[in-house]
Amino acid sequence: MSLSSGGAFDTPRPGGYHPRREGGETLEQLLIALGRGRRATAVLAAAFVVVSGLVALRPGSKLGRELWIMRSAPTVTPSATLVPTSTASPSPTRTSTSTATPTTTFTPTPSNTPTATASATATISPTPSVTPSPTQTPTPQPTPDGTPRALVVPILMYHYLSAPPAGADAIRRDLSVSPAQFEEHLQALRAGGYTAITLYDLTLALQIGATLPDRPIVITFDDGYRDNYVNALPLLQRYGFVATFFLITGLIDEGRAEYVTWEQVIEMHQAGMEIGAHGYSHVDLRGRDVDYLVWQMLGSKEAIEARIGEPVRFFCYPSGKYDALGIQVLKSAHYWGAVTVHPGVRQRSEAMYELSRVRVHGDTDAPTLLAALDAWVRQERRQGAP
Ligand SMILES: [Zn+2]
Repeated sequence: MSLSSGGAFDTPRPGGYHPRREGGETLEQLLIALGRGRRATAVLAAAFVVVSGLVALRPGSKLGRELWIMRSAPTVTPSATLVPTSTASPSPTRTSTSTATPTTTFTPTPSNTPTATASATATISPTPSVTPSPTQTPTPQPTPDGTPRALVVPILMYHYLSAPPAGADAIRRDLSVSPAQFEEHLQALRAGGYTAITLYDLTLALQIGATLPDRPIVITFDDGYRDNYVNALPLLQRYGFVATFFLITGLIDEGRAEYVTWEQVIEMHQAGMEIGAHGYSHVDLRGRDVDYLVWQMLGSKEAIEARIGEPVRFFCYPSGKYDALGIQVLKSAHYWGAVTVHPGVRQRSEAMYELSRVRVHGDTDAPTLLAALDAWVRQERRQGAP
C-alpha cells in the first residue's frame, strides 16, 4: 500500500467516526472513546499532510515539476521531469489532445528587470477575437527509442523577406532577402528535389526513426517580421513549402508595424506553417536566472499557444545566444528542441536543443544556395552521415 494513495485512511477509522453502540457502553465510555478518536485522527491527519507534501514535491511529480519551473533553484535535475511516460502515437497529428480548461497566459513577473514588469502584463490579454485553446497539458514528446541518430537536414535561416530600405546598413542588407530572390530559392530547391519539413517532422525522425522524404530541408524565419506574412507566406504556398516562423511575442503585443499581428500568426498557422517562439523580447538569454528564463521562454510559448491552439515545440535563441540553464528551462517547459546559429546541416537526436542552421544572406542567389547545400551534404556524407 503506497503512502501516496493515502493508505493509512483505507483502514477502519477510529471510533470517533463510527460511534456504533456495541455491547451497551455507557455515555461516559462513549465520550472517552470519541475523545481518543479525535486525538488519533489529528495525529494521522498531521502525518498525512507531511507525507503528501513530500510525495507531491518530489522532483518527478507534477506539482514538483511545476514548482521547479516557477521557483526552484537550478540544482534540480530537470531530466527527472523529462522522461516521457506515455507512448505517444508517432503519427504527426498536430492537434492538441488536452482537455484542460483554458487559462490565462502564464507570464511570470521577473523580479530583476524593471522594464519586464511593465511589459509582461501585455501578454496576459489575448486578442478578444481569439478563442484560447487549452495547452496546459502538453502532448508528451514521442518516447525516444534510445537510438542515437544523426541526420543530414539543412535548416535554412531567413530574417527579412523584403528589399532592404534605402540607406540600410550592411547588417540589415545582409538580413534581407527580396521576394523575387526568395522565389528563385524556392524554385531551385524544388528543382533540386528538396522537400520542406517542419522541426516537428525532424524530431520524430531523430527520436523514433520516422521516415523523412528525400532531401528534407527546414525553412526558418527569425523575428516574425511583417514581410514574412506579406511576402513569404504566399510564395511558400505557391510552391508547396512549409516553413517555421519564430516570433518575439512582446513585440507582437505592442502592435508594432514591422512585425506580424496575432491575426496574421493565426492565418499562417492555419495555412500549415509551424510557429515557434523567439522569446518575449529579443535579448541575450545567457547568465539569467530561472525566473527570467521562464518568463522569456515559457511566457512566449504560452502567448503563441493561446492564439494558435496547439503546443509550441521549438525555440530560437535570440541572436543565437544561450547557456546550459537556458536549455534546462526549455526542457522543463516542454520544448522539444531549439535552433542555434551554429553553421551545419547535421542534426543529432542527442542535441535537440542545439540544432544547426545554414544562414541565408542578403546576397545569396539561388545557385549559390544550392551549391552551398550540396557542399554541406557532400561533406557530411564523407564523414559517414546517412
Ligand atoms: Zn532574432
